[in-house]
Amino acid sequence: MQIAKPHAAILASPGMGHLVPVLELGKRLVTLHNLQVTIFIVAPATSDEQLSQLLDSQNQDFLHIVLLPSVDVSGIADAEASISTKIVIMMHQSLPLLRSAISAMTIRPTALIVDLFGTEAMAIADEFEMLKYVFIASNAWFFAVIAYAPELDRKVLAEHVYQQQPLKLPGCTPIRFEDNLEVFPAFENPMYDGFMHASMEMALADGIIINTWEDLEPKTLRALRDSNLLGRVCKAPVYPVGPLARSVQPPIWRKEVLDWLDKQPRESVIYVSFGSGGTLSAKQMVELASGLELSQQRFLWVVRPPFENDVSGSFFSVGINSSSVQEFLPDGFLTRTENVGLVVPMWAPQAEILGHQSVGGFLSHCGWNSTIESITNGVPIIAWPLYAEQKMNATLLTEELGVAVRSKELPSESIVERHEIEMMVRKIMVDKEGHATRNKVKELKLSGEKASSKGGSSYNSLSQLANSFQSFLQTLEVKAKGG
Ligand code: UDP
Repeated sequence: MQIAKPHAAILASPGMGHLVPVLELGKRLVTLHNLQVTIFIVAPATSDEQLSQLLDSQNQDFLHIVLLPSVDVSGIADAEASISTKIVIMMHQSLPLLRSAISAMTIRPTALIVDLFGTEAMAIADEFEMLKYVFIASNAWFFAVIAYAPELDRKVLAEHVYQQQPLKLPGCTPIRFEDNLEVFPAFENPMYDGFMHASMEMALADGIIINTWEDLEPKTLRALRDSNLLGRVCKAPVYPVGPLARSVQPPIWRKEVLDWLDKQPRESVIYVSFGSGGTLSAKQMVELASGLELSQQRFLWVVRPPFENDVSGSFFSVGINSSSVQEFLPDGFLTRTENVGLVVPMWAPQAEILGHQSVGGFLSHCGWNSTIESITNGVPIIAWPLYAEQKMNATLLTEELGVAVRSKELPSESIVERHEIEMMVRKIMVDKEGHATRNKVKELKLSGEKASSKGGSSYNSLSQLANSFQSFLQTLEVKAKGG
C-alpha cells in the first residue's frame, strides 16, 4: 500500500525577516524529510521588489508558494502605528483568504505552521482538522518570554517595567530591563494585550519549532522542557531545528557588490547593515560614517535615508529605490573612502556577502536571521540592536556566546559616537581581542553544521516533527475508513 505524504502548510507574515527562515524550513521539510509543503505569504502592499528577488533567487520547483493578495492597511491602521500593530492587522485581514485557499485545496494539509504573528490562524487548523504548530523565527530565550508571559505575576511585571528590575524566567538567564521587548514598557496599551493573547494561543499548539539548536542554547531549551521550570507552562514539545539560514545563490543582481568584494583581501571588510527595515537618525549616520573612516578598515555599507525617532523606518518601504543616499553622508566621505569602502543604497545580497571570503566582520542590528547568517558563515559581529527582540539577541551574542562586541550606549535610544564606533570596528577587525571572538564564531559555525547534518540534533528534531505529521495522517486515514 502506498502511504500518502504528509502535507505542511506554512503561513509567513509580512517582512523579509519572517519569510526567509520560513522558506528554509519549507525547503528542509521537502528535501530532507520527504514532505509536501505549501507556503502562504502575506505580502505588504509595498516593497514587493525584494520579495520577487528573493522568490526568483530560490529554486522554488519543489515548494508550492501561494502569494495571498496584498493587504493595504493604510485605511485601517494609524500611520503612526508600530510595525507589529500593522503586521497584526494585515494577518487578521488575510485570514478569510487563507481559509478559502485551504478549503479549496484538493490535498488538505496535515499541519498548519504559523509564525509569531499568525497564531489567530490556528483556529483554521482546528476547523479543518489539522495539526497546528508555531514557528519562532528567533531564539529559545525570546520564546521563553512569550511562553512565560501569561504566568507573570502583575507585581513581578510591574517591578520589571517600573522599577527596572531584571525579569526572572525559571531556569533561564534573567532579562535586563534595558534589553527587554518594547511590548512590556507598553503594558498598559493594546499591544500588550495582543502579545498576551498570542502567547495564550501558542500554549494550545501541538509543537513549537524554533530557529536555534541544542548546543547554542542548552540552558534555555532544558528549562523549556523541564516540568519544574518553564515546561510547566510550555506543555507542547519544542523542536529546535536551526540554524535555518538562507542558502547562498549565484548572484543574479547587484553583482557589482560581489565583484568589488572579489578584489578585497581575505576577511578584510566589515559589512554594515540594519536588516530589512532598520534606520538611523541623520546625526547617527554622520557618526557611523566618521567612525568607519577613522577605523581605516575596508567597509561595505547598506545605506538608507535617515529617519528621526523611528528605528524601523524602512520596514515597509525598503523596496522603494533611493539612489540619493549620498546626500545624507558627510561632505567628501565617498571621495575620501573610495579606495576602501563601498556604499550600497537600500538593499544588498546579504547572504552572498556574508558568505564571501573577504568579509571579516558584520556591524548588525542583530535581527535573528542576520545573526544566524553571520554565525553560519563564521563572521564576528558588532551588535547594534534597534527594535523588537534585538537587544536580547545582542546580549546573548556578547555575554553568552562571545561572538560579538557591543557599545555601552543603546543605539536605539542614544547616539553612539564616532570614536566608539572606530574602537569597536578595530576590536573586531584588527585587535587581538577580536581573534578570540572570531575563533568562537567559527566554533559555533561548526556546531550549527553538525546540528543540521544527518543524525545531528536539529536534523533529528525535524525528523520527529515529520514523523508526528505522518502518524497523524495515518490516524486520519484509519478514521476515514471507519476504523
Ligand atoms: N537582507 C538582505 N539584504 C539587505 C537587508 C536584509 O538580503 O540589504 C535579508 C537578510 O539577509 C535577512 C533578512 O533580510 O535574511 C532580515 O532579517 P533579520 O531577521 O536579520 O532582520 P529584520 O529585517 O527582520 O529586522
